[in-house]
Amino acid sequence: MKQIAFVGAGFSCSVLARKLVENGNFNATIFESRDHIGGNCHTIRDQNIMIHQYGPHIFNTSNKEVWDYINSFGNFINFTNRVKAVTSKGIFSLPINLLTINQYFDTKFSPNEAFDFIKSLSKKIENVQNFEDQALNMLGEELYYNFFYGYTKKQWGVEPNQLPASILKRLPVRFNYNDNYYEQKYQGIPLEGYTEIINKILDHPKIKVNLKSSFDRKNKHEFDYVFYSGPIDKYFSYSEGDLGYRTLKFERFTFDGDFQGNPVINYCDEKVDFTRITEHKHFTPWESHKNSICFKEFSSLATRKDDPYYPLRLSKDLTILKNYMKLCEEEDNVSFIGRLGTYRYLDMHVVIEESLNLAEICLLNDIDKWPTFSKNPI
Ligand code: UDP
Repeated sequence: MKQIAFVGAGFSCSVLARKLVENGNFNATIFESRDHIGGNCHTIRDQNIMIHQYGPHIFNTSNKEVWDYINSFGNFINFTNRVKAVTSKGIFSLPINLLTINQYFDTKFSPNEAFDFIKSLSKKIENVQNFEDQALNMLGEELYYNFFYGYTKKQWGVEPNQLPASILKRLPVRFNYNDNYYEQKYQGIPLEGYTEIINKILDHPKIKVNLKSSFDRKNKHEFDYVFYSGPIDKYFSYSEGDLGYRTLKFERFTFDGDFQGNPVINYCDEKVDFTRITEHKHFTPWESHKNSICFKEFSSLATRKDDPYYPLRLSKDLTILKNYMKLCEEEDNVSFIGRLGTYRYLDMHVVIEESLNLAEICLLNDIDKWPTFSKNPI
């Protein structure tokens, strides 16, 4: 029986551990430095309202295998995220759709008319290099500056022309009245929260979970293999320099009644110092609560003491990352997985998909053939 250590109790390690112990000759020991499982998907009850402690998580995927897998550990309730955005011109529906366009420009465009109109505003950029190019190309200056420029500067702390275009590709522009924030086929929130789901994934006689317990690289030899889902730079004691991450701080406040009438409202103006307000009882519309708990979200550059949330991936980070990747390749019997282990901006469903795929590879191959990364970081 091989002894495998898993560092982190979020989705990436939990899914992988469960698959490996169920289908192979392995025991799993999970090391989680926090006092709870679930990573940044952790949910708790506060005044009986389900709180997404590290910011809102709405599960969305088009991958049926992933959806079936996650639903086998708990009930998901269909949930459509309908985000609103506060701009200098008023409150609008996001992602930008036909209602946003018609209300913003005080028009009554049909889908084709709106398409032609936005096309006439868009800046023709031949070779789209970054977030700003992508936005100007898609929307033109006015919508870019009112919906994306200020929010993105607050969220990422740099000029949007320093950021990859892929970040904006997360948000569609639609020429119909569909205001669903996501495009994926399956969308939902677990009836009893994400921590319940992860608890069930980890509930197996061959999985042992150690909370409030950090994994020390020096103790690696006590295990046959290690899957590490913490920050890649931290694993190597920052020897190649610090990778850039954004962290979030939450300002909690309560309200008697309904504070904003929606789960998420974004504040796009650069002068407002937070990015969004989330009102968590609206993530469980199947429950009813008189009182309300809300959070203002502030983004800043993470120090080593902060929880890293978003990998920045500026060009200087990618240079450092390549040096860490060399060290990873040289490190025997360790795989780096998940959002922090591979330093990529991944959603829950992608992490789960990658762990399911990795489990398959590991179950078919001897330990010395297991891949260094769940997916290549660059
Ligand atoms: N974004 C923006 N304005 C908004 C919402 C999003 O400029 O009102 C940009 C911003 O750069 C953000 C990115 O789009 O980081 C992706 O947004 P998403 O809602 O997917 O971010 P998440 O919920 O993961 O923080």
